[in-house]
Formats: sequence, C-alpha cells, structure tokens
Amino acid sequence: MVYPPAGAVVQARDSNFIFGTVGSGRATVRINGTPVPVVANGSFIAYLPVPPATAPRYAIVAARGADTARADHPIKLLPPRLVLADTGRLVVDTASVSPRGVRLARAGERVRVSLRAPRNAAVTLRLRDGSERRLVNAARALDSLRVTVGPNDVDPFVWSTDAPADVLAGGAELVVGRGLDTARFAIRDVTVDDPLRVRWVRLTGGAGVPDTDRVVILRPVPNGTYKWLLFAGTTLEATGRVGDMVRVRLDSGLEAWAAAGDVTELPAGIAGPRRTAGNARVVASRDWVDVVIPTGDRPPFEVREQGNTLVLVMYGVQANTDIIGYVGDDSLVRRVRWYQETSDRARFEIDLAHAPYGYLPMWDRGAFTLRIRRQPAIDAASPLKGLTIVVNAGHPPAGSTGPTGLYEAVPTLAISQRLKTILEARGARVVMTRTTADPLALAIRPVLARQAGAHAFVSIHLNALPDGVNPFTANGTGSYYFHPSSEPLAREVQRGMVLRMGLRDLGIFYDNLSDLRHPWMPSVLCEGAFIMIPEQEAAVRTVEFQERYALGVADGLVAYFRALGRQVQQP
Ligand SMILES: [Zn+2]
Repeated sequence: MVYPPAGAVVQARDSNFIFGTVGSGRATVRINGTPVPVVANGSFIAYLPVPPATAPRYAIVAARGADTARADHPIKLLPPRLVLADTGRLVVDTASVSPRGVRLARAGERVRVSLRAPRNAAVTLRLRDGSERRLVNAARALDSLRVTVGPNDVDPFVWSTDAPADVLAGGAELVVGRGLDTARFAIRDVTVDDPLRVRWVRLTGGAGVPDTDRVVILRPVPNGTYKWLLFAGTTLEATGRVGDMVRVRLDSGLEAWAAAGDVTELPAGIAGPRRTAGNARVVASRDWVDVVIPTGDRPPFEVREQGNTLVLVMYGVQANTDIIGYVGDDSLVRRVRWYQETSDRARFEIDLAHAPYGYLPMWDRGAFTLRIRRQPAIDAASPLKGLTIVVNAGHPPAGSTGPTGLYEAVPTLAISQRLKTILEARGARVVMTRTTADPLALAIRPVLARQAGAHAFVSIHLNALPDGVNPFTANGTGSYYFHPSSEPLAREVQRGMVLRMGLRDLGIFYDNLSDLRHPWMPSVLCEGAFIMIPEQEAAVRTVEFQERYALGVADGLVAYFRALGRQVQQP
C-alpha cells in the first residue's frame, strides 16, 4: 500500500482513492469486498467509499491461482460532523469561536465575533462592564423578514456580530444558552494600539536567494495567496496583527498582510519614509531597457501587464516627475506616462513596442529600476537556435509517489534529461537546475534560471490529487502559468504535450506557484501525466513515454518562439 499510508487521516468523508501494488498483473484484488482492476505490472488504484467509523480500515485480499494474501490497512477518519440540533443537550462548535488568538487592532475597528451554535440558542456577548450585546443568526433573521436567499447562501448555524475592538479589548465572554444549558467562551486576546503610536516595520524576510531576486511576500488576507512581492528593506507602517500575520499599510488606501517572521519592528518614535518620485530616465542596453525612477526610499509597488504596457503602481509615493529622458534611440520603450492617482499613490505607464517578454524590478542606490527585457532574435527556420532554456526537474524535496512506489523526482529528472537532449538537437543551450537526486530548494530554482539568462523556464512535474477527488475522471495533462506574458507559452506546451502523449486535455491553469512567479522569463510548469494512475506511472518508467513527454514540451517551445519571432518582425 502506498496511499493512504497506514494510520493516516483521510481528508475526505464520502469516497477516497487508495493505491498500491500486488506485484503481479495476474493477481486479483478486492478491497473491502469490491473488486479492483490490476494493471500488467501489478499496481492498482481504487476509488471507494470511506470506511465507516466502526471499522476504519481497508481489508485487502489479493489472490493469484491458489495463493491468497490478506492485509489489514488501518486509517484514521476526520472527526464526525457536529450535529447542532434544536433538541437534546446543547452542542456548540467550539472550534468555530472567533476571534481567537492574538489580535492587535485600531480602536473602533470592527472585529467579527462569531460562532456556530443551534438556531434556537440565545448567543450573547458579555462585556467587562457587564453590558451585553446579542449575536444574530443571519439565516434566521433573514427568514423572519421573508428575505429570500438561496438555500446555501448562509450557514444556518452561524451567530455573529461586529464589535469595536476597544469594546472587546478589556476582555469579553461569549455566552450560549438554551433552557438550562449554558456554554461560555472567553475572548481575551484582543488588544488596541495606542492611537498616537505609529509602528514602523522593515521587511526583512526573503533570505536564501541573492539580493536582486530577494522578495518579501504580502497577501490580501491573513495567510492568503501571495500578491505583492516587495524589496527586502522596504519600510511600512504596521497597523494590526492577527495571530502570526502582521497588517501593513502600503498607502492610505491599501493594507496587506505579511508573516510576522518577515518583518522587524523599528524603534518607537523613528520617522517614517518620505518617498517622492523624481525625474526618470530610460536607459537602453543590448539585452534590456532600464526605466529608472528615483524615489529616495524603497517603495511598495506592483507591476501589471496590460497589453503592450507595463503599469508600475507605486504606493506611498508622490510623483514629482518633471522630465523623463530617453537615453539613446531605442525602439522597445516608446513612452513613459505618469499619474498621481491618489495623494499617495503614483502610477507609471510604460508603453512598449510589443507585449512584455520579461522584466525585473530592482532597487539601486535610491532609485527604483524596472529592467525591461528585450525579446531574443528568433531564427524562423530554427526557432530555438541560440536560446537558453532552463529545465527544472521537479523535486526533491516533497513530491508525489505512484502505486508501485515510484517517487516523482526520479522520472522528472529522466524526462528533463531527455528534454535537454532534444532541445540541444534543436539548437538551444540548456541549463538544468539539478542533475542529481539531491534536494534543491524551491525558491532558488527560478533564480538559477534568471542568472543563466533563461529565455524560458520549463518545470517538469507529474501530478497527483488531493483526497476526495475521483482519480478516474480528473487525470490527464495540464500546464500552469502565472504572469500573463507566460500564457502563450503554457498554451503551446500544453498543445504539444497533449498531441504527443495522448492523455486527457485538462487545459491550462493560472496558478500562483513558486516556479512561475519570477517575471524575468516566460515560465511554464508541466504536469504531463499523473503518477498516481497505474497506467501512467508505468508509462513514465519507460524511455518511450519519457521521450513523448519531452518531445511535447520541446514542440511547444518551438511553436512559442516561432510565434514570438513573427511578433518581433511585425511590431
Ligand atoms: Zn511535482
């Protein structure tokens, strides 16, 4: 048995997959009484009802001729769903009580107080001064108004109210009552900051990669997706905290969240940064064009790709840009326009001769520099000739394992090595991020590509599914991109892989993956096949299928660069 491992918690309630091998394609397998197909090499996968709480195990019976082998494979189940019934003993979903954990907020800032409890309970917030506020069950309140909502719009058991942080700061208590039953929950970790105190923090995370590529991640919600990639060393005002996430202000109209471990609080009373954008210059070099905007202190910012324009939004910046000089006679950067969008947000629009190909925000001696990369010259007859392609064999660390125990990092390296050979035969220079089984940190891989001058970054993986998804309908070939400028590459590589491998076309996906976030080169992450599917795991062991995977990716690269070359010739 490979998955789920014995004793693991199955993260599904209805059905889940189970896979492993019996070592012989002539054997038959039954799991919990259900016959399971076995492929030629003896491996199998099944999608079966999750075993009941009374018997949380898979009973596996394998037979070949007169031989029978039995295995008992225990698992753990998710805790049963709470039943918040209207009758019987009062049951409250204690895990749902919010706020919980350290929270630093502004006085008057509304904090959501909520929990899940039966619809016919009475839920009260008791404050330190003895006063009370009722929590409201929104589903019940809307029902009483006959406001029609869809059946699943509102969790019928959620009770909530929004309370000012200063009201909660002295300590409060949630009281749930029904009949003679009462449950109480202390709310004691809400703190309100002194309104006269301004906290400045410096972004100090992102270590482990060189300075040019070192970024600190900010998120729109605590523990949410990565949205802003800022320079280490940027100074921001901290305006709150939830658990181990710190809220920072980018400008008067925008706040975001940073991991507490990525920021260092500066001494009290220290003056914050003043950032004024001065006169800008456009400086052309052979392989790129720099747009240099002095701002005095590192600004928080965002770069957006919009058609043939790069939009650079600088937060907490007043633009006082009187002159923009274009040094040299260059055709890539046509115009730089700027706008003061709000009193502390500046917007630079950099119009290019064609859609952006790659760029790199940099900080250099008091100036923000957006380095905009030129497209490579493409030989129409041999589109990869002279280009540098960086091939990344996915994992280790981490990665998936197939039914016979094949570890993803083994075939990804074999496929990557075949891809290298094919790309070199088609005229490219190929740099591999790894050539051995040794682990290589995730964050460094795209940086190695940038340092190698990659014209494209290709990451080779084999896919797997999370618990609860039916593997028989959700497997096939997929490609992933992040920046809009990488989308054409993902489409071509996807087309190439589907044609060569003939698996189900799952399409391309926007996904915020480490391998894809570096903006210097077009990047694609290939999930050519599923290692958890027995036939596909068996295929990726073969040189023939590895060759097809690699040929599909190489075909996609050729098609992408051929199209890019046409774009350069016909601006
Ligand atoms: Zn992977």
